[in-house]
Amino acid sequence: MDDLLNPRLAERLGPVAVFPGDAGYEQRRQVWNASIDRSPAVIVVAGDSDDVRNAVKTAAACGLDICVKGGGHNIAGSAVADGALMIDMSNLKQVEIDAEHCIARAGGGATWAELDAAAQARGLAVPGGVVSSTGVAGLTLGGGFGWLARLHGLAIDNLLSAEIVLADGTIAICSQTEHADLFWALRGGGGNFGVVTEFTFRLHPVGPDVCFGPTFFALEDAREVLSAYAQHAPSLPRKACVWANLMTAPPVPVLPESVHGTKVLTLMQFHAGTAEEARADLHALYAGAEPLGSAFAPRPYTEAQGFLDAAYDFGARNYWRAHNHDTLKSQLIDLLVDLAPGLPTPESELLICLLGGAIADKSDDATAFPHRQIPFMTTPGARWTEETDDAEMIGWLRHVSDRITEHAVPGSYVNFIAEPEGSARRAYGGNLARLAAIKRKYDPANLFRFNQNIAPQSLSTGPRAPLSR
Ligand code: FAD
Repeated sequence: MDDLLNPRLAERLGPVAVFPGDAGYEQRRQVWNASIDRSPAVIVVAGDSDDVRNAVKTAAACGLDICVKGGGHNIAGSAVADGALMIDMSNLKQVEIDAEHCIARAGGGATWAELDAAAQARGLAVPGGVVSSTGVAGLTLGGGFGWLARLHGLAIDNLLSAEIVLADGTIAICSQTEHADLFWALRGGGGNFGVVTEFTFRLHPVGPDVCFGPTFFALEDAREVLSAYAQHAPSLPRKACVWANLMTAPPVPVLPESVHGTKVLTLMQFHAGTAEEARADLHALYAGAEPLGSAFAPRPYTEAQGFLDAAYDFGARNYWRAHNHDTLKSQLIDLLVDLAPGLPTPESELLICLLGGAIADKSDDATAFPHRQIPFMTTPGARWTEETDDAEMIGWLRHVSDRITEHAVPGSYVNFIAEPEGSARRAYGGNLARLAAIKRKYDPANLFRFNQNIAPQSLSTGPRAPLSR
């Protein structure tokens, strides 16, 4: 590396620059997925949008790649890159709630826990994800679905505007009426278009209590329960959302000790109505099977949002795949149930997410997120601790994913893709060409490319690859 680079960077960036060896560098370069071990040349701990502008201009002037860290949860680790200028947004976590107009403003480094807590203090919420340590930024920029998405849409469907630092270092506000092309692209296009310093969302009245929690079933009942889930879940009322998970039973008090550590099917249930309504609406999913135990109960919305945090904490190595499904056919259900006994660690899982409802009210080209008509997404996940197990775990996951692919339809959710690059067509399908044209307008040199990269249109070469699964 150029010996003069660090002094130049230090001079241009000022006290917000953190270099290798400085206090905080090691902690700031880490991301949620412990498999990722990359070392940026410098980390800019941005305190405001001017720091972000300066960082973007400095990277361009010094010929450095840029990567941006929001909540750091991206499975592919796209928040951190070797030798790059990393913009750490974690100090931009201001959240403002305008309860009168049902509007929330969240900084580009806020987490869902911070946004949820502030909004719920006024009885309101923005539809987010299901683990509250996740960043508002990355989750929203990819689409963003969780328990409220069937009722109120994706996170992007509730985005009113965004303040963004563009590749040329200018700040733009984009919304339906300002830079509408960019606003369309931001709603699913990931971090391809700039650094978002503030999101403005529409809020909805939620809670304070909702019904939430897992109900566990024996693996012997899994086929029957999953068949009922396949049949009834898509037509549940929008205030209900249920994800199914073939997993290892945790040592929780609602399960008998004899069940701990065995393979089970879990229905993780959310219902924004009363306990009576929830029981009536969800009953059909159980297919008459006797649960092993249940923690499904009324509880504060913020508690529901944090319920899964410990199970998906920082520090483990992870590898995922995600598949779209137009139905859950019996062959797929058989496959998943047959694969469950082979889960390689107690933290690994075969997860099925339910979409539909308000997500599907918009067409696939209404925003950059193109998977709106998909009712189910399967997400097999391997989670382990030792580096020496990497090959075995990734091998298992790829094998499982290949088998599931036989029952999937094309496309994959950008926020669940573990491969660091090369999946833009899978992620964006028919929206990719429009995204590439917008990329050419706002980032022609492809400065923001540590993501599922959308090549600027003029740089696209060669024949277009077929839409793959
Ligand atoms: P980061 O790794 O910081 O960023 C992700 C991407 O966004 C990177 O490319 C980064 O450069 C870019 N980026 C970050 N901040 C900014 C910014 N301010 N401006 C511009 N670009 C930025 N997804 C769902 O939809 N629903 C879920 O329920 C859900 N649950 C999850 C649970 C866990 C435990 C994990 C690990 C992930 C989950 N996800 C979920 C996926 C999640 O949406 C993605 O991992 C997302 O990328 C996380 O955003 P982040 O800001 O935390 O990540």
